[in-house]
Amino acid sequence: MTTKRDYYEILEVSKSATAEEIKKAYRQQALRFHPDKNPGDAKAEEKFKESAEAYEVLSDVKKRQRYDQFGHSGLGGNQGFGGFSGGMSIDEIFSHFGDIFGGGGGGFDDPFGAFFGGGRRRSGRTVHKGSNLRVKVKLTLEEIAHGVEKKIKVNKYVQCTTCTGTGAKDGSAYQTCSTCNGSGHVTRVTSTFLGQMQSTSACPQCGGEGKVITDKCHDCAGNGVIKGEEVISIKIPVGVAEGMQLSMGGKGNAAARGGIPGDLFIQIEEIRHSEFDREGNHLLYNHFITFSDAVLGTSTEIPTIDGKVKIKVEAGTQSGKILRLRNKGLPSVNGYEGKGDLLVTLQIWTPKILSKEEKSLMEKLGKSPNFQPDPSSKERSFFSKVKDYFE
Ligand SMILES: [Zn+2]
Ligand SMILES: [Zn+2]
Repeated sequence: MTTKRDYYEILEVSKSATAEEIKKAYRQQALRFHPDKNPGDAKAEEKFKESAEAYEVLSDVKKRQRYDQFGHSGLGGNQGFGGFSGGMSIDEIFSHFGDIFGGGGGGFDDPFGAFFGGGRRRSGRTVHKGSNLRVKVKLTLEEIAHGVEKKIKVNKYVQCTTCTGTGAKDGSAYQTCSTCNGSGHVTRVTSTFLGQMQSTSACPQCGGEGKVITDKCHDCAGNGVIKGEEVISIKIPVGVAEGMQLSMGGKGNAAARGGIPGDLFIQIEEIRHSEFDREGNHLLYNHFITFSDAVLGTSTEIPTIDGKVKIKVEAGTQSGKILRLRNKGLPSVNGYEGKGDLLVTLQIWTPKILSKEEKSLMEKLGKSPNFQPDPSSKERSFFSKVKDYFE
């Protein structure tokens, strides 16, 4: 498990920080560690990326909620789920957080742009970003307990194979944009009383791409993407729960003309189990025993999520007694907390149909002083007993 720094710590904000405070903190960090301000400083670049990652999560209400609840693992950072943590390039950060720097799609042609020395030196041209996709995956408790690899078919935009995603016929019918000479942006110099001001904006001719298609690909009408499908293999980490979301970077919709693909979000749905109820990482199971077994004691077989085990029923067991089978519950999703327990509630089966003989036996037994409830035995409710286990 790699140790990742706390996102709030990275942005130097409190856990109760507002969206506005988080945005402000990120702006400050981004300015401080911006690569153009710290050329060749690998540490600064690392910090720049780190704060972008923290901002990506904390600026998104849902991601922030998940992070608050489950930490880094709640975002699918473990078990091969790259999510964001696979590391974004500086260009990606710019195209992601255009709003922070002003302008979208990698352009930051506002005060920040000017601050950074006029520009998108690294990025320059506009890069398209594919949209994100969401799918649901239904899982059994067994799959959650043991981990599973699911193959799902996702309908999405995929790269056009005819033009290999370029959008141009035969893949090369391109011309460098004459308006911006391929840079993707145009610079305007205006004179003000403060002196000459330089402003940069995306080229209107090519939309910032730096090139124009002279002959469009017929199959994708010049978009570089077509409707298609992809079968995606998803490794589900053990211990996930209903409502959790995993992310796979780059598995969303393909982007127009060779841009960055969107991400795929996988929402977990739990299929109700026929025998067990789930309470966090603990499992609950009701087991019926006969009246005579409860009185005389026995050993009996019960199911667990990992197969059958034998348990001992003590002589004189009261109905509703809870047995705790340690580590027979579900593994925790982040691996730190170990496994939950299986709580078995013993219930005495009361027969509904009796023969004449059985009836008279019961009547006789019922009159015996040993069969009278002991008023000093204070059995607590099922709820309060179970609550004890969870605290
Ligand atoms: Zn095409
Ligand atoms: Zn242009």
